[in-house]
Parts: sequence; C-alpha cells; structure tokens
Amino acid sequence: MNDEFYMKRALELAALAAAQGEVPVGAVVVKQSTGEIVGEGYNRRETDKTPLAHAEIIAINEASRRLGGWRLVDCALYVTLEPCPMCAGAVINSRVERLVYGASDPKAGSCGSVTDLFSYPYNHIPPIERGILAEECASVLTEFFRQLRERKNALKNISQITDR
Ligand SMILES: [Zn+2]
Repeated sequence: MNDEFYMKRALELAALAAAQGEVPVGAVVVKQSTGEIVGEGYNRRETDKTPLAHAEIIAINEASRRLGGWRLVDCALYVTLEPCPMCAGAVINSRVERLVYGASDPKAGSCGSVTDLFSYPYNHIPPIERGILAEECASVLTEFFRQLRERKNALKNISQITDR
C-alpha cells in the first residue's frame, strides 16, 4: 500500500469540496488486498444540509454498499484531516482495519488532539498512521479559510461603500 498515493486522491476530493464552498476534507476507503478504492467522499455539510455529511461517513457508506456489508474487513480509511468523534466512532463501528490521516485537528480531532477515542477499550482498535502529507492536507484548509476571510472582507467593503 502506498499511503501517499491514496492520500493524494483524498486531497483531490478535498479540492472538490472547496470548489463547492465546503470545508475541504476528503476521504477514501481502500480494499487492502487489491489496492482498489471502494469508497470516496468529501465534506458535503452545506450541500446536503446535515452535520453528518463528513467525508469519512460518505466514503464508509459507499464502501459498505459496494462491498455488500457493514464490516469493512480488509479496508483502510484515508482522510486528509484527523477524524472527529463521529468519524472516529464510524471507524470503530465499520471495523476499518487501518486508519491513515494527514493533518491533525486541534479543534475536533479525536485520534489524539482533543481526545484519543482509540485509547479506550472499545471492541475495535485499528492501527493508526498519522501525518501522511500533513502539510498539503493542512494547507488546503488554511487556504480555504484565507479565501473565505478575503471574500467576507470584500463584501464588507462593498456594503460600506453602498451605505454611504
Ligand atoms: Zn467527522
């Protein structure tokens, strides 16, 4: 398994999210024995109008449908950002056999940053690989928020002009 190869695909998915005005996080599920990508997802919270539409959840759902069962045996999950508690929970519930993530998330990361769900005695604890292409994964987020701030400032300036 080439971790960087699959993380690059997750980064492409994150870019798709950004293009739709969504916070750029991307995820892929890979069948480890064949190397085949069986699930893909990117953050769609705004588009789908649900807090549950995280990249990991969408990728896990697609993989489960494709593989015909909820147990993602022989599967690894790649995600650009450290999973939140919901998605770390989905990793436990789907029995994903390996978790690989890029950037850490000091605000919601639940694989070591805010908390480490995998340090508790749940019934499924996969090995975790942290920091794969971490800089690229973090920079798509910082760039997205920088552009968002610029747009907001531009709008503020326009409204100040029209207020005169
Ligand atoms: Zn999440």
